[in-house]
Amino acid sequence: VIEINNLHKAYGPLEVLKGVSVKAPRGHVISLIGSSGSGKSTLLRCCNLLEDSQEGDLRFNGEAVTWKGTGHNRRPADPKQVLRIRTNLSMVFQQFNLWAHMTILQNVMEAPLTVLRRDRAEVEAAARAYLDKVGIGDKCDVYPAQLSGGQQQRAAIARGLCMEPEALLFDEPTSALDPELEQEVVKVIKDLAAEGRTMMIVTHDMKLAADVSDHVVFLHQGLIEEQGAPDALFGAPKSERLRGFLSATH
Ligand code: ATP
Ligand code: MG
Repeated sequence: VIEINNLHKAYGPLEVLKGVSVKAPRGHVISLIGSSGSGKSTLLRCCNLLEDSQEGDLRFNGEAVTWKGTGHNRRPADPKQVLRIRTNLSMVFQQFNLWAHMTILQNVMEAPLTVLRRDRAEVEAAARAYLDKVGIGDKCDVYPAQLSGGQQQRAAIARGLCMEPEALLFDEPTSALDPELEQEVVKVIKDLAAEGRTMMIVTHDMKLAADVSDHVVFLHQGLIEEQGAPDALFGAPKSERLRGFLSATH
Protein backbone atom coordinates (compact mmCIF):
# COMPACT_ATOMS: atom_id res chain seq x y z
CA VAL A 1 0.00 0.00 0.00
CA ILE A 2 2.72 2.45 1.04
CA GLU A 3 6.15 2.60 -0.58
CA ILE A 4 8.72 5.16 0.45
CA ASN A 5 11.92 5.20 -1.55
CA ASN A 6 15.12 7.11 -0.71
CA LEU A 7 13.30 9.89 1.11
CA HIS A 8 15.26 13.01 2.07
CA LYS A 9 13.82 15.67 4.33
CA ALA A 10 15.52 18.71 5.84
CA TYR A 11 14.24 21.59 7.93
CA GLY A 12 16.45 24.35 6.53
CA PRO A 13 20.01 23.17 7.13
CA LEU A 14 18.94 20.37 9.48
CA GLU A 15 18.85 17.04 7.63
CA VAL A 16 16.30 14.89 9.37
CA LEU A 17 15.81 12.05 6.85
CA LYS A 18 18.86 11.16 4.79
CA GLY A 19 17.54 8.58 2.34
CA VAL A 20 14.99 6.30 3.96
CA SER A 21 13.12 3.51 2.19
CA VAL A 22 10.20 1.72 3.84
CA LYS A 23 7.41 -0.45 2.47
CA ALA A 24 4.09 -1.29 4.07
CA PRO A 25 2.46 -4.00 1.95
CA ARG A 26 -1.28 -4.57 2.34
CA GLY A 27 -2.14 -6.24 5.63
CA HIS A 28 1.29 -5.67 7.15
CA VAL A 29 2.18 -3.82 10.32
CA ILE A 30 5.43 -1.86 10.23
CA SER A 31 6.82 -0.41 13.46
CA LEU A 32 9.27 2.47 13.52
CA ILE A 33 11.51 2.66 16.56
CA GLY A 34 14.50 4.82 17.45
CA SER A 35 15.63 7.43 19.89
CA SER A 36 14.14 10.87 20.24
CA GLY A 37 14.98 13.07 17.25
CA SER A 38 15.82 10.16 14.94
CA GLY A 39 13.12 11.25 12.48
CA LYS A 40 10.25 8.83 13.20
CA SER A 41 7.45 11.41 13.35
CA THR A 42 8.90 13.25 10.37
CA LEU A 43 8.81 10.05 8.33
CA LEU A 44 5.12 9.47 9.15
CA ARG A 45 4.26 13.08 8.39
CA CYS A 46 6.07 12.93 5.04
CA CYS A 47 4.23 9.72 4.24
CA ASN A 48 0.93 11.50 4.80
CA LEU A 49 2.15 14.51 2.79
CA LEU A 50 1.76 16.67 5.88
CA GLU A 51 5.40 17.61 5.27
CA ASP A 52 7.18 18.26 2.02
CA SER A 53 10.32 16.32 1.25
CA GLN A 54 13.23 17.27 -1.01
CA GLU A 55 14.10 14.01 -2.70
CA GLY A 56 12.81 10.48 -3.04
CA ASP A 57 9.53 8.92 -4.05
CA LEU A 58 6.28 8.01 -2.39
CA ARG A 59 3.78 5.56 -3.82
CA PHE A 60 0.31 4.61 -2.66
CA ASN A 61 -1.29 1.53 -4.18
CA GLY A 62 1.34 1.73 -6.89
CA GLU A 63 0.49 5.35 -7.77
CA ALA A 64 3.51 7.65 -7.54
CA VAL A 65 3.14 11.09 -5.98
CA THR A 66 3.77 13.67 -8.68
CA TRP A 67 6.00 16.60 -7.76
CA LYS A 68 6.76 20.05 -9.09
CA GLY A 69 9.96 21.92 -8.32
CA THR A 70 13.10 20.47 -6.81
CA GLY A 71 14.95 20.54 -3.50
CA HIS A 72 13.47 22.92 -0.95
CA ASN A 73 10.95 24.06 -3.56
CA ARG A 74 9.59 20.59 -4.23
CA ARG A 75 5.84 20.30 -3.63
CA PRO A 76 3.20 17.77 -4.64
CA ALA A 77 1.93 18.80 -8.08
CA ASP A 78 -1.67 17.67 -7.73
CA PRO A 79 -3.84 18.83 -4.79
CA LYS A 80 -6.49 16.25 -5.68
CA GLN A 81 -3.91 13.51 -5.41
CA VAL A 82 -2.79 14.84 -2.02
CA LEU A 83 -6.37 14.81 -0.76
CA ARG A 84 -6.97 11.31 -2.13
CA ILE A 85 -3.86 9.97 -0.43
CA ARG A 86 -4.45 11.77 2.83
CA THR A 87 -8.02 10.58 3.15
CA ASN A 88 -6.77 7.03 2.58
CA LEU A 89 -4.26 7.25 5.41
CA SER A 90 -5.72 7.99 8.83
CA MET A 91 -3.24 9.39 11.30
CA VAL A 92 -3.59 8.89 15.07
CA PHE A 93 -1.45 11.19 17.17
CA GLN A 94 0.04 11.01 20.64
CA GLN A 95 -2.29 13.81 21.73
CA PHE A 96 -5.67 12.69 20.56
CA ASN A 97 -6.67 16.01 18.98
CA LEU A 98 -10.40 15.51 19.38
CA TRP A 99 -12.58 18.58 18.87
CA ALA A 100 -13.53 19.71 22.38
CA HIS A 101 -16.80 21.36 21.35
CA MET A 102 -18.18 18.26 19.62
CA THR A 103 -19.54 15.07 21.15
CA ILE A 104 -17.63 11.85 20.58
CA LEU A 105 -20.11 10.76 17.91
CA GLN A 106 -19.83 14.13 16.12
CA ASN A 107 -16.03 13.88 16.27
CA VAL A 108 -16.11 10.49 14.55
CA MET A 109 -18.69 11.60 11.94
CA GLU A 110 -17.14 14.94 11.02
CA ALA A 111 -14.55 14.00 8.37
CA PRO A 112 -16.62 11.37 6.52
CA LEU A 113 -19.43 13.96 6.27
CA THR A 114 -17.40 17.01 5.31
CA VAL A 115 -14.44 15.53 3.43
CA LEU A 116 -16.00 12.47 1.83
CA ARG A 117 -19.55 13.93 1.71
CA ARG A 118 -21.06 10.60 2.63
CA ASP A 119 -24.67 10.06 3.58
CA ARG A 120 -25.38 11.14 7.17
CA ALA A 121 -27.40 8.10 8.23
CA GLU A 122 -24.76 5.72 6.87
CA VAL A 123 -21.96 7.64 8.53
CA GLU A 124 -23.78 7.66 11.85
CA ALA A 125 -24.32 3.90 11.70
CA ALA A 126 -20.65 3.35 10.85
CA ALA A 127 -19.47 5.76 13.58
CA ARG A 128 -21.55 3.94 16.21
CA ALA A 129 -20.22 0.60 15.03
CA TYR A 130 -16.58 1.77 15.23
CA LEU A 131 -17.13 3.27 18.68
CA ASP A 132 -18.58 -0.10 19.76
CA LYS A 133 -15.61 -1.87 18.25
CA VAL A 134 -13.13 0.16 20.32
CA GLY A 135 -15.26 -0.42 23.41
CA ILE A 136 -16.83 3.01 23.96
CA GLY A 137 -20.17 2.63 22.24
CA ASP A 138 -21.82 4.05 25.36
CA LYS A 139 -19.89 7.37 25.08
CA CYS A 140 -21.42 8.68 21.85
CA ASP A 141 -23.11 11.70 23.39
CA VAL A 142 -20.45 12.95 25.80
CA TYR A 143 -17.68 15.47 25.14
CA PRO A 144 -13.97 14.55 24.98
CA ALA A 145 -13.22 16.21 28.33
CA GLN A 146 -15.56 13.72 30.01
CA LEU A 147 -13.46 10.73 28.88
CA SER A 148 -10.28 9.23 30.27
CA GLY A 149 -7.12 9.48 28.15
CA GLY A 150 -7.44 5.86 27.04
CA GLN A 151 -11.06 6.41 26.03
CA GLN A 152 -10.14 9.59 24.14
CA GLN A 153 -7.43 7.77 22.25
CA ARG A 154 -9.86 4.97 21.37
CA ALA A 155 -12.30 7.62 20.12
CA ALA A 156 -9.48 9.04 17.97
CA ILE A 157 -8.87 5.57 16.53
CA ALA A 158 -12.61 5.16 15.80
CA ARG A 159 -12.49 8.52 14.05
CA GLY A 160 -9.59 7.30 11.90
CA LEU A 161 -11.39 4.05 11.09
CA CYS A 162 -14.61 5.84 10.11
CA MET A 163 -12.77 7.29 7.09
CA GLU A 164 -12.42 3.67 5.88
CA PRO A 165 -8.75 4.30 5.12
CA GLU A 166 -6.39 1.96 3.26
CA ALA A 167 -3.90 2.28 6.09
CA LEU A 168 -3.53 3.72 9.58
CA LEU A 169 -0.52 5.71 10.76
CA PHE A 170 0.06 5.88 14.51
CA ASP A 171 2.51 8.30 16.11
CA GLU A 172 3.20 7.13 19.68
CA PRO A 173 -0.47 6.34 20.30
CA THR A 174 0.08 5.20 23.87
CA SER A 175 2.81 7.44 25.18
CA ALA A 176 0.53 10.11 26.67
CA LEU A 177 -1.29 7.47 28.72
CA ASP A 178 -0.91 5.94 32.16
CA PRO A 179 0.19 2.30 32.00
CA GLU A 180 -3.23 0.84 32.75
CA LEU A 181 -4.95 3.04 30.13
CA GLU A 182 -2.15 2.24 27.70
CA GLN A 183 -3.24 -1.42 27.71
CA GLU A 184 -6.77 -0.52 26.52
CA VAL A 185 -5.29 1.15 23.48
CA VAL A 186 -2.73 -1.62 22.91
CA LYS A 187 -5.61 -4.09 22.81
CA VAL A 188 -7.40 -2.07 20.12
CA ILE A 189 -4.22 -1.88 18.05
CA LYS A 190 -3.68 -5.62 18.41
CA ASP A 191 -7.26 -6.28 17.27
CA LEU A 192 -6.70 -4.09 14.21
CA ALA A 193 -3.45 -5.94 13.42
CA ALA A 194 -5.24 -9.29 13.76
CA GLU A 195 -7.87 -8.06 11.25
CA GLY A 196 -5.13 -7.54 8.71
CA ARG A 197 -5.15 -3.74 8.65
CA THR A 198 -2.18 -2.06 7.05
CA MET A 199 -0.47 0.07 9.69
CA MET A 200 2.69 2.03 10.35
CA ILE A 201 3.27 2.57 14.05
CA VAL A 202 5.83 4.82 15.69
CA THR A 203 6.19 3.50 19.20
CA HIS A 204 8.45 3.46 22.23
CA ASP A 205 6.63 0.33 23.41
CA MET A 206 8.95 -2.50 22.35
CA LYS A 207 6.52 -5.12 23.57
CA LEU A 208 3.80 -3.69 21.33
CA ALA A 209 6.24 -3.55 18.39
CA ALA A 210 7.32 -7.15 19.04
CA ASP A 211 3.72 -8.38 19.36
CA VAL A 212 2.04 -6.72 16.37
CA SER A 213 4.71 -6.06 13.74
CA ASP A 214 5.53 -7.95 10.60
CA HIS A 215 8.57 -5.74 10.17
CA VAL A 216 10.44 -3.37 12.48
CA VAL A 217 12.56 -0.45 11.35
CA PHE A 218 15.16 1.09 13.67
CA LEU A 219 15.96 4.66 12.69
CA HIS A 220 19.11 6.38 13.83
CA GLN A 221 19.86 9.99 12.93
CA GLY A 222 17.72 9.95 9.81
CA LEU A 223 18.91 6.62 8.42
CA ILE A 224 17.75 3.05 8.81
CA GLU A 225 20.35 1.45 11.02
CA GLU A 226 18.73 -1.97 11.12
CA GLN A 227 15.43 -3.57 10.09
CA GLY A 228 13.87 -6.98 10.06
CA ALA A 229 11.30 -9.33 11.50
CA PRO A 230 10.61 -8.59 15.16
CA ASP A 231 12.07 -11.91 16.37
CA ALA A 232 15.38 -11.21 14.67
CA LEU A 233 15.51 -7.52 15.49
CA PHE A 234 14.68 -7.87 19.17
CA GLY A 235 16.07 -11.37 19.66
CA ALA A 236 19.38 -10.96 17.89
CA PRO A 237 20.09 -7.29 17.13
CA LYS A 238 23.18 -6.93 14.96
CA SER A 239 23.95 -3.26 15.30
CA GLU A 240 25.74 -1.94 18.35
CA ARG A 241 23.45 1.11 18.33
CA LEU A 242 20.32 -1.00 18.29
CA ARG A 243 21.67 -3.12 21.15
CA GLY A 244 22.35 0.07 23.11
CA PHE A 245 18.89 1.44 22.32
CA LEU A 246 17.15 -1.76 23.36
CA SER A 247 19.04 -2.09 26.62
CA ALA A 248 18.25 1.55 27.43
CA THR A 249 14.52 1.02 26.90
CA HIS A 250 14.22 -2.00 29.19
P1 ATP B 1 10.55 11.71 19.32
O1 ATP B 1 10.80 10.28 19.70
O2 ATP B 1 11.09 12.65 20.33
O3 ATP B 1 9.14 11.99 18.95
P2 ATP B 1 11.21 11.66 16.46
O4 ATP B 1 12.06 10.51 16.08
O5 ATP B 1 9.77 11.58 16.20
O6 ATP B 1 11.47 11.98 18.01
P3 ATP B 1 11.14 13.99 14.77
O7 ATP B 1 10.00 14.66 15.43
O8 ATP B 1 10.92 13.34 13.46
O9 ATP B 1 11.83 12.93 15.76
O10 ATP B 1 12.28 15.08 14.65
C1 ATP B 1 13.52 14.83 14.01
C2 ATP B 1 14.34 16.09 14.04
O11 ATP B 1 13.70 17.11 13.28
C3 ATP B 1 14.56 16.67 15.41
O12 ATP B 1 15.90 17.11 15.49
C4 ATP B 1 13.61 17.83 15.48
O13 ATP B 1 14.10 18.84 16.29
C5 ATP B 1 13.52 18.28 14.04
N1 ATP B 1 12.23 18.87 13.69
C6 ATP B 1 11.03 18.24 13.77
N2 ATP B 1 10.02 19.05 13.37
C7 ATP B 1 10.60 20.21 13.01
C8 ATP B 1 10.12 21.47 12.50
N3 ATP B 1 8.82 21.66 12.24
N4 ATP B 1 11.02 22.45 12.26
C9 ATP B 1 12.33 22.26 12.49
N5 ATP B 1 12.87 21.12 12.97
C10 ATP B 1 12.03 20.11 13.22
MG1 MG C 1 8.07 11.79 17.36
